[in-house]
Amino acid sequence: MLDPFGREAQELIRREFGDVLSLLERIPSSIDPKETLTLVRWVLSSETPPKELIEIKGIESLKDLFRFYALLGALAFSPYGLEAELVKRATSKLYLERIKSRNTLEETLLKVEAPSGIPERDRKILEKVMDRSLPEEDREKLRLKYRIHLREFLELWEGSLKEVYLREGYAYLRWNEALKLWKMAFERRFDRAVSLLSDVREELPDFYEHLLQELRKLAEKYFKERLENLGKVNAKPLRFDLFPPCVKEALKGVPAGMRNYAITVLLTSFLSYARLCPNPPRKDVRVKDCVSDLRVIEEEILPVIIEAGNRCRPPLFEDQPHEIKNIWYHLGFGLTDKPTLEDSGNSTWYFPPNCDKIRANAPHLCKPDRYCRGIKNPLTYYLRRLAREGGKENPEGEGND
Ligand code: SF4
Repeated sequence: MLDPFGREAQELIRREFGDVLSLLERIPSSIDPKETLTLVRWVLSSETPPKELIEIKGIESLKDLFRFYALLGALAFSPYGLEAELVKRATSKLYLERIKSRNTLEETLLKVEAPSGIPERDRKILEKVMDRSLPEEDREKLRLKYRIHLREFLELWEGSLKEVYLREGYAYLRWNEALKLWKMAFERRFDRAVSLLSDVREELPDFYEHLLQELRKLAEKYFKERLENLGKVNAKPLRFDLFPPCVKEALKGVPAGMRNYAITVLLTSFLSYARLCPNPPRKDVRVKDCVSDLRVIEEEILPVIIEAGNRCRPPLFEDQPHEIKNIWYHLGFGLTDKPTLEDSGNSTWYFPPNCDKIRANAPHLCKPDRYCRGIKNPLTYYLRRLAREGGKENPEGEGND
């Protein structure tokens, strides 16, 4: 199977199992959890996947699909952690190598087609047809191999538009550009699949939680250096410079109509999960599952929330002093202003809202930057940047605003 999100794989899932959830129910009785790790384990010892993983055929293709979706099922229990980064990195490399070895992107999730409609004159220029000195290998690299609808292209492409030939609603792609685009599409679909499965993880068999434990061991080995530099990726001091734009906007204070959403809903959930429990082990996690006393909330989180509330116009807590109780309520302590650790669990500890909810409820907060591409939740944004840049101090000269 060239691509587990491609047309062939999706049709097979529909035909044989009905949907992905039914496939995930079937997997535990079909494969050994350790076997699924073969899709990932190779990254510990090699830059490129082994031949036997690239050249798979027949019954092995179905096993391959089982392995991949089993990994997604495991990640439903830790959608934002290093395990997800490891699996995404290993599988995108692996499937990319398969695509390269078959030299085609047909049947993959990228909706490309033959590059018709290019005027001959443009083609000659773009492919340097008249340049007789060009080695065949370079000529092949210049060949326009596919076209893709501009709408789909623009959703994925991060480079300059000058790099690509655009004509009549299509972007025309050379092989390397098409591969780059496939990788972006794969990673985006991967994040979306994990995020969707995370919403239904209570319905998944225990198999996947056990598999996650195995994945965690691999991720700890693979990211050993990073973890040693950073300390554990779990709870640690907040890096304001790596916060997503919507959270930075909320921190600046907002006008009256948006205050409760920005401060009580977004900021409270984001700061608390980012600081106390970036990878919640289950949906109904409580603060007391993550910390042993409330000082970290009282000394590091509440002051930031109150300061942001004071910056609102008019200041939130002067206007609505009872809103403090609501903050504790959203942290899961029930409606109180003098909680103890034992109170955690009296209400739900709200998880940060997804980006689409933020855009619907407080559109002015969402001012996406380049790291927001493909992000579904502000916490993912932060954890990704923390994983990539967390070892550097203010890597891009951004202020702690
Ligand atoms: S895309 Fe998401 S993370 Fe980025 S600013 Fe908008 S709401 Fe925040």
